[in-house]
Amino acid sequence: MLNIPDSKHERIVIVGGGFAGFTLAKKLQNKPVQLVLLDKNNYHQFQPLFYQVAMAGLEPSSISFPLRKAFQNCENIVIRVAELQEVKTKEKRILTDQGEIYYDKLVLAMGTKTNFYGNQEIEEKAFSLKSVSESLYLRNSILQDFEKALMEEDYDARQKYIDVVIVGGGPTGVELAGALAEMKHYILPKEYKEIDYKEVDIHLIQAGDGLLKGMSTEAGETALKYLKKLGVNVILNKRVQAYNGHEVVINDGTTIPCSKVIWAAGVHCHKVQGLSEESYTRGNRLIVNGHLQLLTDSSIYVLGDQAYLSDNTYTHGHPQVAQVAIQQAKYLAKSWTKNLKNNFVYNDLGSMATIGRNKAVVDLPKMKFKGFFAWILWLFVHIRSLIGFKNKLFVLINWMWNYITYDQSLRLIIKPFKRK
Ligand SMILES: Cc1cc2nc3c(=O)[nH]c(=O)nc-3n(C[C@H](O)[C@H](O)[C@H](O)COP(=O)(O)OP(=O)(O)OC[C@H]3O[C@@H](n4cnc5c(N)ncnc54)[C@H](O)[C@@H]3O)c2cc1C
Repeated sequence: MLNIPDSKHERIVIVGGGFAGFTLAKKLQNKPVQLVLLDKNNYHQFQPLFYQVAMAGLEPSSISFPLRKAFQNCENIVIRVAELQEVKTKEKRILTDQGEIYYDKLVLAMGTKTNFYGNQEIEEKAFSLKSVSESLYLRNSILQDFEKALMEEDYDARQKYIDVVIVGGGPTGVELAGALAEMKHYILPKEYKEIDYKEVDIHLIQAGDGLLKGMSTEAGETALKYLKKLGVNVILNKRVQAYNGHEVVINDGTTIPCSKVIWAAGVHCHKVQGLSEESYTRGNRLIVNGHLQLLTDSSIYVLGDQAYLSDNTYTHGHPQVAQVAIQQAKYLAKSWTKNLKNNFVYNDLGSMATIGRNKAVVDLPKMKFKGFFAWILWLFVHIRSLIGFKNKLFVLINWMWNYITYDQSLRLIIKPFKRK
């Protein structure tokens, strides 16, 4: 049972404590409403830095923040760790894995999940990066494979352990490839001396003709140049067709033997049982009006990656990025508390991606730049966006330490305990 206390106030149920749900709850804290915040985890996750956890650069606790701690001083919020299963729109009730509750207003902010485009085998065998748990799993696998490689005499068998294939040339794929290349150049020669680091191949496969498709052509070209300089084998205009856990098959028939494929080729939204088919569009996004209300049900609001709002500027919906989620949450809180009538308008603050140490590309609305200063800006923006002073401080210290020593010191293989 969810055991939600009765309240004389209107009940707003928010599903998802990510960028959108978390921001909305913060903006409505101590307002005359009852907030029920549901998430399947008891913490907020800062997804843009998952890849640094996977590359042993940051601890998971530096990029996660406990929801209860965030709302310690908030009187009107009830937090429950529960997973949404169904919406009963006629009764204004939701069903979760922990029980059922009613809502006056429902806000769906459940983000996305990895899209394997229906390829079951790839889904089972490849790694993805959509949660702190997956990032840790990848970190363990990379480190364990280095250990196995040390004990393997046969060249081909060893290659399988140390080579990595990344699928998808968006920000996640590019940032991962850059971080792996750094690990190859700075960590392997020091700690895994018996492995010839030049034997490590990092392949980045991208279906399109350039990298960082959501950014400018210049940013994509610069990222390509930086990655090539770091020794990453970037393969453009090719699709991965199959992966059986041992070998990647590309659509031109080429194969790459490899025990680690990281799938960063796309996301789609969770389908919510109980909502009609006409509520959805491409990628299972839910169609909303300018007030972020679900077109098919005005008591349901949708925010962030899950929302699809088409306007004159964004005819195919907004990009699925953190800023859209945050701005939509702020808009919704304001429109409820101040009774605003205007539609949501997204203010694009720009986009950026980092490629290894010292290098990044930044597209701002009025200017584009790259290199060291772009990297400094990237660091600053990410630290500023993290939740919690301790997290900001720890990440800053970690990054300064890594920068000075060319080292990350978190290469522990911590295996989950299994009861016999
Ligand atoms: C690896 C990676 C790197 C990224 N890098 C960047 C970047 O550099 N810059 C940028 O702007 N954006 C980046 N993004 C995208 C950005 O993280 C998303 O756009 C943003 O998180 C969307 O916010 P949201 O609130 O819609 O969803 P999320 O932040 O994904 O939050 C969704 C929440 O819903 C919860 N949830 C899901 N299903 C259920 C359920 N059934 N029941 C209960 N709770 C549920 C989840 O646990 C989660 O807490 C990146 C994403 C990834 C995966």
